[in-house]
Amino acid sequence: VMAMTFLAACSQTTTENSQPKMKLAQDDSKVYVGFSLDTLQEDRWYKDKEAFEKKVLELGGEVKTLAANGVDSVQIKQAELLIAEGVDVLVVVPHNAEVSAEIVDKAHKANVKVVSYDRLIKNADVDYYISYDNKKVGQLQAQEILKKQKKGNFAYIGGAETDNNAVLFREGAMEVLQPYIDKDDIKLVFDKYTDEWQPEIAETNMKQALKENNNDIQAVIAANDGTAGGVINALQAIGKTIPVSGQDAEITGLKRILAGSQTMTVYKPIQVIAEDAAAIAMKAGKNEKIDTTATVNNGKIDVPSILLDPVAVTKSNIDETVIKDKFITEDELK
Ligand code: BGC
Repeated sequence: VMAMTFLAACSQTTTENSQPKMKLAQDDSKVYVGFSLDTLQEDRWYKDKEAFEKKVLELGGEVKTLAANGVDSVQIKQAELLIAEGVDVLVVVPHNAEVSAEIVDKAHKANVKVVSYDRLIKNADVDYYISYDNKKVGQLQAQEILKKQKKGNFAYIGGAETDNNAVLFREGAMEVLQPYIDKDDIKLVFDKYTDEWQPEIAETNMKQALKENNNDIQAVIAANDGTAGGVINALQAIGKTIPVSGQDAEITGLKRILAGSQTMTVYKPIQVIAEDAAAIAMKAGKNEKIDTTATVNNGKIDVPSILLDPVAVTKSNIDETVIKDKFITEDELK
């Protein structure tokens, strides 16, 4: 009887290899959404997951999230699993911009649409992309640092080069620094991506930067709060306080801003990207038309996209940004 009920619950649509498509949702009349996360390393991804799942349920869908712990082969396997479970649409935060193209190909073979979430999947027929203006993130980081320091030796401590966002953050920052570099006011004495966005690696790299320059560094653009934490550890080990940027408005980052060891962070309202992505996923799952506001070329196609606005946060506007939005409570900052 159980087996009968189970089979009855599986819709019997046929894929192109004419194998019956199973849908392991509790109610197969609902849109089934798969959410494939690269990692839960940074706090933000828990917020993404929670807000995304909540919105899908609110919109009448079902959702399953899997996180790959930063391993490409695991992310591909998990995507395959979700496809085999019969998801109608796959929302992916890719670990590796290029490698994840395989996920898109596999999804499309099973008639599953793919939404690239926060990070762009490159060289693939991605159906939709939703993110922040990531070049602007890098611009904001450099602009806030320049307000504190317009001359001297600068270091750039980037994100993971395998993440397209890390490349865009760096591009945005360099665009703002370039005129100062051209004038010889600023010298970029160290410029390195950080493997896997690991704070420990950022710390090691910052130590190397200090050593190579006899500690003569006046400012650091760090790509996110995680890498900023590593950079600030390296600076504190030699008793140095200089302007350092960050991103994500993590509690640790905001606390460092209040304490004066970090200059700024970038607030990206996670609620907005998660809820918009959930709405896109639900529509894509029903093959409904989706309104986008931009296109982003991913090396293969112009992907219909939505790019949200990032906000610079310093000591002076914490209240009117992250606190006001209830992204973080005052208690959490104590
Ligand atoms: C995201 C950042 C995050 C980083 C590390 C980037 O792609 O945009 O918000 O800090 O990945 O997970």
